[in-house]
Amino acid sequence: SYPYLAEHKKKLYTSFLALDESRIGVVVVIVLEKNISAESKEAIRAFLQKNHFRVNEINGEEDTIFGAVGKLGIDPREVQVLPGVARVIPISKPYKMASREFKKDDTVVEVPCARGSIKIGGSKVVAIAGPCAVESREQIFNVARHVAAAGAVLLRGGAFKPRTSPYAFQGLGEEGVRLLREAGDAFGLPVVSEIVSMEHIPIMRDYIDVFQIGARNMQNFELLKCVGALAKPVVLKRGLAATIEELLMAAEYLLSSGTDSVILCERGIRTYEQATRNTLDLSAIPVLRSLTHLPVIVDPSHAVGIRDKVAPMALASIAAGADGIVVEVHCNPDKAMSDGAQSLYPQQFDKLMRDIDVLAPVVGKEVARLGSGGRCGGSQAENVPPAEGGMEQTERSEGLRLGGRQRDIISAARPPSKKICAFMGKPGAFADQAIDRFFGEDADKRAFATFREMFRAVSEGAADYGMAPVENSLAGAVYDNYDNFSRFEDVNIVGAITLRIEHSLLAVQGAALDTIKNVYSHPHGFPQCDDFLEKYPAWKRIEAESTADAAQFVAHNGSVENAAIASGLAARYNNLVELAQGIESNKRNYTRFVVIAREDVARSRFDGGGFLFFGDITKASLIFTTKNKPGALYECLGVFHAHALNMTRLESRPVHGEPWRHSFYADIDVSADNAESAGGERAAKKIVDGVMRDLKAKTESVRLLGLYRERDC
Ligand code: PEP
Ligand code: MN
Repeated sequence: SYPYLAEHKKKLYTSFLALDESRIGVVVVIVLEKNISAESKEAIRAFLQKNHFRVNEINGEEDTIFGAVGKLGIDPREVQVLPGVARVIPISKPYKMASREFKKDDTVVEVPCARGSIKIGGSKVVAIAGPCAVESREQIFNVARHVAAAGAVLLRGGAFKPRTSPYAFQGLGEEGVRLLREAGDAFGLPVVSEIVSMEHIPIMRDYIDVFQIGARNMQNFELLKCVGALAKPVVLKRGLAATIEELLMAAEYLLSSGTDSVILCERGIRTYEQATRNTLDLSAIPVLRSLTHLPVIVDPSHAVGIRDKVAPMALASIAAGADGIVVEVHCNPDKAMSDGAQSLYPQQFDKLMRDIDVLAPVVGKEVARLGSGGRCGGSQAENVPPAEGGMEQTERSEGLRLGGRQRDIISAARPPSKKICAFMGKPGAFADQAIDRFFGEDADKRAFATFREMFRAVSEGAADYGMAPVENSLAGAVYDNYDNFSRFEDVNIVGAITLRIEHSLLAVQGAALDTIKNVYSHPHGFPQCDDFLEKYPAWKRIEAESTADAAQFVAHNGSVENAAIASGLAARYNNLVELAQGIESNKRNYTRFVVIAREDVARSRFDGGGFLFFGDITKASLIFTTKNKPGALYECLGVFHAHALNMTRLESRPVHGEPWRHSFYADIDVSADNAESAGGERAAKKIVDGVMRDLKAKTESVRLLGLYRERDC
């Protein structure tokens, strides 16, 4: 039923033959028997050449060896049985398209969704969550509502369940697929479901965004070929007793059948251990990372099989470099029809997501959220009409897909044009990394020489956004930027992100620690690396505009006497080597950036003057100037207390031109209110109608800088 598969294979074969051998070569070493006859030797050579191998004969003192380099695989046993062959040593890997050699850069799988697309792989961590099986409309809607609010970006749910017992619940089948789709649409989540038979393709293909190949079917090669030919994203789970190589060979089946979107999933393997359902092979994550370019996610639920062990293994997976997790969540796991014992209660999933939020930056990643990156703004749930109605009695036709809500979703999916985002410094600056993390590829980056120029660019419309550092956990506040909010009154805060700062000592090729005489960095760079620098008291410290400027100077100057304290990214941009890595004294070194935008860009659906853009509101920032009277600041802080709000930061800055007068910059945590109303409408109302009004009465002036989502910390 897939006639183009054969055609595709033919094309693939031809393109392999055209490929450069160094990228995809199959290398086999054949050791010949000492007393091999001339005819046998020629017969082996001819056999290899017939199989498209180039043969190099190497005559050593002891042995004669054939080094064979080809483009297509060969079964080593076929060579082994030829007369005169002593030993066959395959050097190259049997999988090609899945290998790192074939594709150096990480593959980022894109799953189209209402808000553009969800990217799996790269710098994000994705959470896929949902029940083991779809059981009823109510069940799947309840779970979907919950996991969407907690931060999952894909909804899982089995409709065809591969159960060990034929008497166990087998899934709702076609109805399950439809219900999953409805629930996904209602909460803006694309859906993942397992396919167990190619016969189900017609039932599933219009409803399922990501196909899952289950552990039991990892080596069902006919299924792999048919699913691969659909050219849709596929989650491929590792078989119960499959080696990493076998997993990659299964991925090779999918890739060579037509899809380029394969996500590998480690879900535990069968070992002699009985304490857990399976044994989670965490080391598979870094091993796969070096063998393949494909994203790797982990299913801790099926790995451990016991609810209270799921979260620790999920966190360990993220720490080990996984691109995401897939976890089973059920609102009533005690009544679940399958895998209840390993399904998380919704509250457990909430906590796990909060923990992952904090952990992700430690490994240089960020949790992927729906609606982030400025696509459509807001959180997923509140823009989507409630569940009733939905797509009941759905027909599987394109006509229906264009009706009602579906039409809205399609129009919202149009990709936005790239936004210009300003930062201070040079390429490779930490702010440059922060932009990558916040906006992904959606931003066009522009470098400015000073913070003030960056603010001006935003204020005057030369840039849509700016990435402004406001505080480092070791060096303290970046006062310039607090002052810039007073200078540029039309610039507001629309988001915030915390980046882990890791410093390296960079120098030109040929330099070594004992050739260095001068070290360049941003003034903050030196105190952050005090312990390291103490070991080299003779080095002269020279301040640069930014760490990236320091790196650029060292590269252009070319002397082996110079070094820069800057990021690994700056080393790559400037072609420098890292003489030492992780030289920051305190590994818990973070910089908090705020994303700035002009007021008209920032103003959102809150008529009262809110500034929500990137997801739910968790923070509010404001600047106020107190009256000149006893207890003035005390009274202002009393306003936050009266509204039961937690102030997380208070900075005082001198008011320019008015000696000894100060304005205060305050950050307020509004996440508690946010938890009760999706998107933070309630938090926004409280700040705008309550706090701002009360502060007006008690201050000389007050300005709301922004209501936004604080990411990571
Ligand atoms: C599942 O995800 O529900 C499942 C059956 O997983 P696995 O194939 O890994 O056992
Ligand atoms: Mn399950």
